[in-house]
Amino acid sequence: MYLVKTPWLLKKLYPQLTWDAKPCDKCIYLTFDDGPIPIVTPFVLNILQQYNAKATFFCIGDNVNKHPDVFQQVKDAGHAIGNHTYNHLKGWNTKDQTYLENFMEADKLIDSTLFRPPYGRVKRSQAKLLKEAKSGLKLIMWNILSADFDINLSPEKCLDNVIKYTTAGDIVLFHDSLKAFDRLEYALPNAMEYWSKEGFTFKSLSEP
Ligand SMILES: [Zn+2]
Repeated sequence: MYLVKTPWLLKKLYPQLTWDAKPCDKCIYLTFDDGPIPIVTPFVLNILQQYNAKATFFCIGDNVNKHPDVFQQVKDAGHAIGNHTYNHLKGWNTKDQTYLENFMEADKLIDSTLFRPPYGRVKRSQAKLLKEAKSGLKLIMWNILSADFDINLSPEKCLDNVIKYTTAGDIVLFHDSLKAFDRLEYALPNAMEYWSKEGFTFKSLSEP
């Protein structure tokens, strides 16, 4: 079960997490989780370049370790990078110390003050530990979940969801993963074409 649009109640319950980016007139903050990997990440980079777009990639440390060349392509293209733990740990099921160590392991490869907890699940105690370990760390959530990971969702429906709910200043979550690719491959270029015609621009979360 998931919701495309993050409800305000959830935002109130977790004030230590960032659910909204800086307000902007006509911009969208695209984010991509779980890469970097061959084929899918370069596909995303190519689409972003076509729209002169900047985005934010929340990378899994293990993938950065396996695919340093793809990671370098993301950085060379001027996108922001963020930490997404080393092994994609689910915070609620993980001991605090283990969670911190996994974050720090990824931090050696992905030096960033942006962090997105895998599955959006992190304990308050873990959020606190991470912020103590890395000064200036921001835990970034999202406003719009594309649900591109849902293999029962058609690519067309995935596109409809993101277009229907996204408004200016929203953080939109996609995945540069093999599991999401069937939907991402269709929804991302079509959504960006639609938003561009509507006059939106695309920013990374590290831009002023
Ligand atoms: Zn993830």
